[in-house]
Amino acid sequence: SLPDPAISVIAAKLSGVKKKYLVLSGKGGVGKSTVSTLLSRAFATKNELNVGLLDVDICGPSVPRIMGCEGEIVHQSGSGWSPVYVDDNLCVMSVGFLLDSPKSAVIWRGPRKNALIKQFLTEVDWGTNLDILVIDTPPGTSDEHLSIATYLSKASVDGAILVTTPQDVSILDVRKEIDFCKKTKIPIIGIVENMSVFVCPKCKVASELFPKTSGGGEALAKEFEIPFLGRIPIDPNLASTCDEGTNFITGFPDSATTQFMTDLASKL
Ligand code: ADP
Repeated sequence: SLPDPAISVIAAKLSGVKKKYLVLSGKGGVGKSTVSTLLSRAFATKNELNVGLLDVDICGPSVPRIMGCEGEIVHQSGSGWSPVYVDDNLCVMSVGFLLDSPKSAVIWRGPRKNALIKQFLTEVDWGTNLDILVIDTPPGTSDEHLSIATYLSKASVDGAILVTTPQDVSILDVRKEIDFCKKTKIPIIGIVENMSVFVCPKCKVASELFPKTSGGGEALAKEFEIPFLGRIPIDPNLASTCDEGTNFITGFPDSATTQFMTDLASKL
């Protein structure tokens, strides 16, 4: 079959964006959106770059809430759909802006999801001076994933960041993600292990949440010869800033997580 003409349209639309990163996870609920939003904030806050965050997690678009722009609507302009600005140099586009309720896409069948992803990638107008685009994808390696990879196949994605918890069920699913990147020729930047430990805010002692598989993300990275980027502990402040839609990076500048995400942003 002929390649979808949308692939070239999307490549042209994104050709002005200097760097494009995908954030992937094998499972839902491991912190993929948390990492996507932290990374976007880190790029925007510390490096003063123009950053866009695209949330195509059709079945659980949590980005609007974490970025404090829930309930916003997409504006049409002559050149497409305009993203929502949450800061001077940080804008967000989420499927959540298009849904009547955050749950409504869960019941959609594949073709409708595909059509929405395609429309999103072809119609969003990112302007002409975006330095970075972070793309938050649905969890797993579903059909939607494949369509995202296909639609972006000529848009020269710079790489994927894989997010996992140290737990076996998550690690197993990340293996599929690694496979997916290899098949779709998306370079893997590395693995982030989220919720590795819990540091008690009172006594400061770090406890492993998944002691049997402690260091699982790092071991997996070694096995596949992929860079291990680092760990993010369970952090009640991170959970509450995500729920409130406030900026963790500026709110908790001394946190190890802020340090880690800013370092990562400046290395990319
Ligand atoms: P995913 O995108 O993988 O489905 P989310 O990023 O939405 O997962 O995270 C799921 C939930 O876990 C959210 O409520 C989020 O605030 C919380 N969470 C994620 N990572 C952490 C962490 N390191 N510390 C505390 N809470 C976290």
